[in-house]
Amino acid sequence: METIVINGRAIANAIREKLAVDVKNLASKNINPRMAVLHIGEDPASLSYTKSIQRISSKINIEVEVCKIEETTSSDFVIEKLKKLNENKKINGIIIQEPIPSHLKREDILSSISPFKDIDCMNPINLGRVMKGKFLFAPSTPLGVLKLLEYENINVEGKNVVIVGRSNIVGKPLANLLLIKGKGGNATVTVCHSRTRNLTSFTKMADIVVVAVGRPKLIEGNMVKPGSVVIDVGINDVLDSNGKHKLVGDVNFDSMKGIASYITPVPGGVGPVTTMMLLSNLIKSALIS
Ligand code: NAP
Repeated sequence: METIVINGRAIANAIREKLAVDVKNLASKNINPRMAVLHIGEDPASLSYTKSIQRISSKINIEVEVCKIEETTSSDFVIEKLKKLNENKKINGIIIQEPIPSHLKREDILSSISPFKDIDCMNPINLGRVMKGKFLFAPSTPLGVLKLLEYENINVEGKNVVIVGRSNIVGKPLANLLLIKGKGGNATVTVCHSRTRNLTSFTKMADIVVVAVGRPKLIEGNMVKPGSVVIDVGINDVLDSNGKHKLVGDVNFDSMKGIASYITPVPGGVGPVTTMMLLSNLIKSALIS
């Protein structure tokens, strides 16, 4: 069996061209989408993600305002900052980069993002709307997974989809999106996690396996059904045999060759499309905020 490697970068480029047209159209109406990215602390991985958002956004004339807050800050300070951003008419979308330091009141902070500017769907109001299937914003990573499948003409309707990972930002919202009664949904969904017994018995029955765990090589070729579609959301920084850092996913990529019908690489799979979904949500928010 030939295994098709899904080119997330090419799909992201195609989406970016469409978004560039949207931004131009908005500019002609004097609407200039602008996003605020809040950083609490100096986590290198999230700072580098912000840089990549800035780089991509600048290519299509989207402005990004980075707000850095010291790690030792208080919840009240962050909430006050969010209030100002909510009221700022020049800001259409707000995201808070993870990790949010553990001493802060995480839920209070996330609930303080205006639901109309919450472009990565962190506010529980928006997450609840995703659960109901009628939403303004959905989190960008699950949207990215669905977009990749759509570009490859992989219909999820009636398929057995097994998601490994139940986080609030990937696994759970993806399950809800796949369950929507309508176009792009109607899948049969199983969500696995660290307490799942005999993970392979679930992944083996899947037509589509989506892995979002954060463990290199958790899913091997012998754990999936021949012909299945394997989407690797994981991003893990590991050392290669020369002691150099490299990014790998949660799936043993090489072991899938000849078994999976489609697979996403890491890097270059879900990641680039996720960023486009975030920008797409920003454009949506610019129309309403
Ligand atoms: P998370 O919040 O840490 O959740 C990880 C999930 O994996 C949890 O539900 C956990 O189960 C489950 N898990 C852990 N060990 C397991 C095992 N041995 N077997 C089965 N399930 C297991 O992570 P996240 O934020 O969803 O991120 C997951 C990965 O995706 C990370 O590598 C992250 O960097 C990456 N990511 C990528 C993108 C992108 O755009 N490409 C975006 C977001 C995240 P419990 O709930 O039982 O603990």
